[in-house]
Amino acid sequence: MKKALIIGSGPAGISASLYLARNNNIEVTVVSHGESALLKADKIENYFGFAEPVSGKALLENGIAGAKRLGVKFEKSEVLNLQFTNDLKFEALTTLGSDIYDTVMIATGAKRAKPKFKGITEFEGRGVSYCAVCDAFFYRNKATAVIGSGEYALHEASALTNTSSSVTILTDGEQLKPDLPEGINRIDKKIKELVGSDKIEAVIFEDGSRLDISGVFIAVGTAGSSDIARKIGAAVDGSRISVDSEMATTIPGLYAGGDCIGGLLQVSKAVYDGASAAMSMIKFLKSSK
Ligand SMILES: Cc1cc2nc3c(=O)[nH]c(=O)nc-3n(C[C@H](O)[C@H](O)[C@H](O)COP(=O)(O)OP(=O)(O)OC[C@H]3O[C@@H](n4cnc5c(N)ncnc54)[C@H](O)[C@@H]3O)c2cc1C
Repeated sequence: MKKALIIGSGPAGISASLYLARNNNIEVTVVSHGESALLKADKIENYFGFAEPVSGKALLENGIAGAKRLGVKFEKSEVLNLQFTNDLKFEALTTLGSDIYDTVMIATGAKRAKPKFKGITEFEGRGVSYCAVCDAFFYRNKATAVIGSGEYALHEASALTNTSSSVTILTDGEQLKPDLPEGINRIDKKIKELVGSDKIEAVIFEDGSRLDISGVFIAVGTAGSSDIARKIGAAVDGSRISVDSEMATTIPGLYAGGDCIGGLLQVSKAVYDGASAAMSMIKFLKSSK
């Protein structure tokens, strides 16, 4: 029996596990510490198969239940390191111990950094969002802002310009790195807090001034998490794991997919990546008999 490890139980990891588990001779283990981006998605209405919006939590729970039905093993722990054994298998060190695998997929999602000022956590799902492509529609014809100062912030702001009545990048005292395209405003002042009642209503700056707003999108730093790949020597591009069109990293037997390889940070794309990685893992296991 060959052993496959999937690191991450989000849509990318679960999708891969479904394809792998339907092969008789592969034992599939999914290790996850349980913080999928999906758990933050209140309402998903751009994924195939649902007449009404579905919560990210429900989507995830159904996905995990389906994988368990097919015999996928789940372990709740954090992968701390991945290294080669002498016979070129993979040894995964987790908070629960270590185990050896023939092939591995990294599906660890993207880290979304969170600023520290007051109001961010309180208004999550009530005006504070972490994904412009996902939630822009909920703020159509309303004023929105993006907190961040790099390429990632600009990417999120651009995704809002077609639907929002105005889009303002708030750099929170940082210098904006990319050039600002037409149609996007910018405020460089330090932010004090986000205020509102039921929903967010305004951003208050340290100098006492305010910006009335209906939605704030957090895009601080970069989207991506590539630490495990980097540690075993796989090529990465900034915070993204580099893969080819079959989700193969530069290390034979090691695959990656979902938000951690960049591109469209959406469920549909993560599911495709997972399926594609699994097909490559099956091919790899057959060729390494
Ligand atoms: C607020 C919000 C709203 C969204 N709305 C939508 C939407 O409407 N439509 C849509 O299509 N998409 C939406 N998304 C995006 C969607 O949730 C992601 O694109 C999708 O979850 C990515 O799947 P993934 O499997 O790559 O990563 P994730 O779902 O983030 O899963 C990553 C997994 O890796 C695990 N992990 C990470 N590091 C380790 C480690 N070291 N050891 C063990 N486990 C680890 C985590 O526990 C988790 O199980 C939204 C995201 C957010 C944040």
